[in-house]
Amino acid sequence: MPTLETKNIKKHFEGVKAVDGLSLKFEAGQITGVVGPNGSGKSTLVNLLTGMAPYQDGEVIFSGAEGLRKLLPHEVANYGVARTFQDVRLFEQMPVLDNILVVLTERGVFSSIFERHGDFHLAQAEEVLRKVGLWSKRNELAVNLSYGQRKLLEIARVLAMIFGRGASIVFLDEPFAGLFPEMIKVVVSVLEELKQQNRTIILIEHNMELIRQLSDHVYVLDAGQELAAGKPEKALGRPEVIEAYLGE
Ligand code: ADP
Ligand code: MG
Repeated sequence: MPTLETKNIKKHFEGVKAVDGLSLKFEAGQITGVVGPNGSGKSTLVNLLTGMAPYQDGEVIFSGAEGLRKLLPHEVANYGVARTFQDVRLFEQMPVLDNILVVLTERGVFSSIFERHGDFHLAQAEEVLRKVGLWSKRNELAVNLSYGQRKLLEIARVLAMIFGRGASIVFLDEPFAGLFPEMIKVVVSVLEELKQQNRTIILIEHNMELIRQLSDHVYVLDAGQELAAGKPEKALGRPEVIEAYLGE
């Protein structure tokens, strides 16, 4: 399973240095936490590493079964990556089940609505929806789900991306925000399972207790730069990290 590495990558928006020279390494079979105050560049980093926005400088290096490969900004989306969005993005007017089938079949919204799905895809959809406790909601439109259920559906979509595309690198942008304790448990168990499968997991999260509990390694960002890195118990206790959060 692959490792993803960045060397001095940058993304500036007219005067705002959102990501300002980050050199990070995300190892397979580990959960790497990325934390930092609001506006420190976490979501921008995820956008750069999932091909949602092109990085402007530096390098992204993917090391998989075929060895090392430098990924140009436009290639970043296509190396086997799955993600969730901080601001949950679903096909709102489609049933829960179809939100998953679209990802599993990856043939675009229209063909996957109109084609008849094989038992194979349906069985996979059932598996991922049961895992997050949403199988009984499969015929509800996504728009009608509660906030927490929507976040769980995004997690189910990530699991479907793993089935559908064989994604091995998984980015989760604040997956726990606003979840009830029972739902947090569901997401934790999904993360632990992905880790056991030796996938490369990048977890952006504000809840420090969960970061401490789950991360093998953590990067603390501030104003687009690395403020601290290391094992969570060490990195998060550093005075400069505590100070960066005091202004929050
Ligand atoms: P975080 O996820 O850590 O809260 P973001 O990556 O969302 O931080 O934002 C980092 C900085 O970049 C912020 O100052 C934000 O306002 C700015 N930023 C992010 N996206 C854009 C954009 N598309 N255009 C202009 N500024 C942006
Ligand atoms: Mg963010």
